Amino acid sequence: MIPNDLTKFAEKKFGQNFLKDNHYIDKIIQSMSNENLRVAEIGPGLGDLTKALVKARSVTAFEVDKRLCEYLAATFQDAIHAGVLELRCGDVLEHWESGNLLSESYHLIANLPYYIATNIILKAFKDEQCQSILVMVQKEVAQKFVAKPGEKAFSALSVLAQSVGEAKICFEVEPKAFIPPPNVTSAVLLIKKNCSREDEIFEMFLRIAFGQPRKKLSKNLESTFPKTLVAIAFDTLKVDSNLRPHQVATSTYHHLYNVLKDNLDERKSSQRKPKARKP
Ligand code: SAM
Repeated sequence: MIPNDLTKFAEKKFGQNFLKDNHYIDKIIQSMSNENLRVAEIGPGLGDLTKALVKARSVTAFEVDKRLCEYLAATFQDAIHAGVLELRCGDVLEHWESGNLLSESYHLIANLPYYIATNIILKAFKDEQCQSILVMVQKEVAQKFVAKPGEKAFSALSVLAQSVGEAKICFEVEPKAFIPPPNVTSAVLLIKKNCSREDEIFEMFLRIAFGQPRKKLSKNLESTFPKTLVAIAFDTLKVDSNLRPHQVATSTYHHLYNVLKDNLDERKSSQRKPKARKP
């Protein structure tokens, strides 16, 4: 049974803020791609968005909270029997361990638990079956994914988003649309993918590049790569060595990575090598 007082029922540790304003649920549905693929919903919660989704698409929903799984199984028994809804209980990150969340092409649509939202989006970038991502996240996180080079919010997440497709913010959602209200403003983010990124070493490279965002990019890279190699890379690619990380275009990050990555490959494989045992 779900009590009337959702504020007491909501589990903070699972990032439970239930979207209870139909105006925003309608707007999410209107922002969906026309492409009639299965939808993966992460965290259906009390099923308000799920109810709208199953009217339009087949849905696979992943919910970690056992109390909600039982509630959803009872509430949606018709949709489950009709094969329109598949409910998978447990941590979505465990379902993702094999690489792809579903074995067929899908759109990810969700009001994400904010404590793992970025992690989930990065997993969806790598997942070849995922064609698009339409998710509610904290507004500042959405801004990081959509920022353009030169803007202050331009970050490793912006580079990764631009590397898989196009990202935009569809609309913002005020805290009072949720029970309980979160402490932050939210935004619905849409990322249309045209490819998937498998390359974890590129992510590692970007973490180094944006390690100290106010420092020069060349200095950040010199923290890991030999100074002479960085100088050669900047020279060859005609990149100004005074630029800060947010001032450099996504394509330039890929060019720099291609020049420097052999060095990173070596680093990663030497980390993996077991240490020689002492005689
Ligand atoms: N979709 C509902 C809505 O819009 O009202 C609930 C959204 S609430 C922000 C996040 C939901 O994600 C909760 O139902 C929570 O239990 C679920 N959740 C949190 N962590 C999860 C995880 N690791 N795997 C699957 N679901 C998770």
